Amino acid sequence: MDMQLPLLDRLFAAGLLIDTGVDGLYGRSGAFEDVITRFEAVIDGLGGVDKPETIRFPPGMNRAHFEGSGYMKSFPQLAGTIHSFCGCELDHVSLLTCMEEGKDWTGQQQATDIVLTPAACYPLYPTIAKRGALPVGGGLFDLQSYCFRHEPSKEPTRMQLFRMREYVRMGKPTDVVAFRQDWMERGTKLMESVGLPVEIDVANDPFFGRAGKMYKNNQRNQNLKFELLIPVNANAGPTACMSFNYHQDHFGKTWGLTTDDGETAHTACVGFGLERIALALFKHHGLDVNEWPAHVRKTLWG
Ligand code: ATP
Ligand code: ZN
Ligand code: MG
Repeated sequence: MDMQLPLLDRLFAAGLLIDTGVDGLYGRSGAFEDVITRFEAVIDGLGGVDKPETIRFPPGMNRAHFEGSGYMKSFPQLAGTIHSFCGCELDHVSLLTCMEEGKDWTGQQQATDIVLTPAACYPLYPTIAKRGALPVGGGLFDLQSYCFRHEPSKEPTRMQLFRMREYVRMGKPTDVVAFRQDWMERGTKLMESVGLPVEIDVANDPFFGRAGKMYKNNQRNQNLKFELLIPVNANAGPTACMSFNYHQDHFGKTWGLTTDDGETAHTACVGFGLERIALALFKHHGLDVNEWPAHVRKTLWG
């Protein structure tokens, strides 16, 4: 394989990712998916001992929940909404004419009740709040979802549709903070067990616009977000493959989520970027899984 080619082209050539003609939208080969399946099994081995409640949401969420989350205030540039044709037969004729003439036909689409999920945990908070107060000891959840972010890129690590595996903790501040700290240590050991070099650093989310600057600074100064970084892309800094987020009482207040004794619940989430982790493994150990170091193969395939 020509090591001079950009990583994305080498992944295409090896058939691990499949070009769709859109940057950040790829098919995945069986070999690529197998790495993700095996890695998730290793995550299960670590996280399963805490007996989380497993929930799987589809990659679309209730638009009203999305609106209530405030996502459009912070990250309007990343959001994706689902629109559909809702017209009559006459509208259909004009739609087809529009398409035939090569004009923009999408303006005639109407917003549905569904938006694309921007992070695996977004549908969770309103769902759990609806159950009533948290039980004694709070809550712990295991999530995985395809997520959408409108950030097209030629870097294979920045996709528009990718999977996030998450653990979410809800409850008292001390429990939530301890959960996040614990996962920073587990995450580091986990990556080392598959032969990946890591560093952990404080980070911020890409809050939109001028007002966003203040949120970014605040997030950093209060150590609300950490990332576990692994070098993947040539000529660029290391890539965030996990993130550790402490939301304080943000989602608790937003959704009226309370602890058993009636306090506003605090929340934290730990996210694994599954494609990024697979890409880090391919980058460090080679594009053929059969040639990966024996200890890495043993961790993943037993
Ligand atoms: P970055 O700073 O690289 O944009 P992020 O801060 O936006 O990452 P989070 O919002 O914390 O990332 O998302 C949780 C995890 O999902 C990240 O740690 C990363 O591994 C993964 N992730 C985020 N954006 C993408 C993307 N566009 N493509 C693939 N994986 C992603
Ligand atoms: Zn989350
Ligand atoms: Mg981002």
